[in-house]
Amino acid sequence: MDLIPIARDIVLDHIPELVLVIDAHDRILDANLKLEKWLGKSKEEIIGRDPLEVFGAWPKFLNRILFATEETKQEIEISGKPPTTLELIVMPIFDEQTEALSGRVIVAHDITERKLLENHLSQLMQKLKEQAIRDPLTGVFNRRFFAEALDKEIAQATREQDTLSIVMLDMDHFKKINDTHGHPCGDEALQSLANFLLENSREGDIICRYGGEEFVILMPRASEADAYEKAEGWRREFGRKRFGSEARAFRVSFSAGVANFPKHGANGTALLRAADSALYQSKSHGRNQITLYKQMEQKNAN
Ligand code: GH3
Ligand code: MG
Ligand code: MG
Repeated sequence: MDLIPIARDIVLDHIPELVLVIDAHDRILDANLKLEKWLGKSKEEIIGRDPLEVFGAWPKFLNRILFATEETKQEIEISGKPPTTLELIVMPIFDEQTEALSGRVIVAHDITERKLLENHLSQLMQKLKEQAIRDPLTGVFNRRFFAEALDKEIAQATREQDTLSIVMLDMDHFKKINDTHGHPCGDEALQSLANFLLENSREGDIICRYGGEEFVILMPRASEADAYEKAEGWRREFGRKRFGSEARAFRVSFSAGVANFPKHGANGTALLRAADSALYQSKSHGRNQITLYKQMEQKNAN
């Protein structure tokens, strides 16, 4: 076995990486001080041994990468308390003359801290992304997200020659509710309606707080009749809920307008306009009711 020059030993022992050298027969030839400390074993105890025996507790994939015949880089997680993440670089060394494999150098860099930071940052990014598309009071989607989702769903419905419907709803006399029972009670009613809609809609429906006390629900693949029936059911059921204290309990109603793609609008803007005018019709006909855009046209025609 060749003696490794002293200067190299000094460098090897002072770099922050763990270094392992394996010979052509897959036996440990050398290890730096960092690795000795990491393993809790002295160099003398491991030299000449099979690395898989020494690193026995390490995951199985070590088997694959330790014996790589070309430069390989891989992150590995080592369970323990706390778990550690290592970035391993395996570099095969070839004899210059014979080109035969003469051994491998394995450098392991402890990237646990970097990994923890990366995970933390990605969770934070996820949270920020989520916040950017949600209404903070009710947790349902915000208007910006809705506009994008509506365009996407319309594009999909067009491709599949399918239909979709939207329901735009607005709480009745909400200003009076705030004035009479206080803003927090108003907030509670808004949250309750949002939860109610979430609980009583189909998977794939998109619920959005469109404005102050206004919500829009996008129902992919729903016909106008389906959407109307659904909204009518919501109106009846939500109208039975009681808010406020026992002594000053009150109920909240809403009015809504329903519009269908492609029948009542060829794009998102037109569809929202149709639902809004149907909603306006519900309001002007006495509130606490649902109007389908089609019905409104008939009413106008009569
Ligand atoms: P209409 O039946 O015609 O819809 O009457 P309205 O009183 O509901 O409509 P208006 O547009 O006059 O009032 C809406 C009210 O909604 C006024 C506003 O203070 C209230 N509002 C908007 N956002 C919030 C909110 O986040 N929390 C609470 N508590 N109230 C809100
Ligand atoms: Mg209102
Ligand atoms: Mg309103």
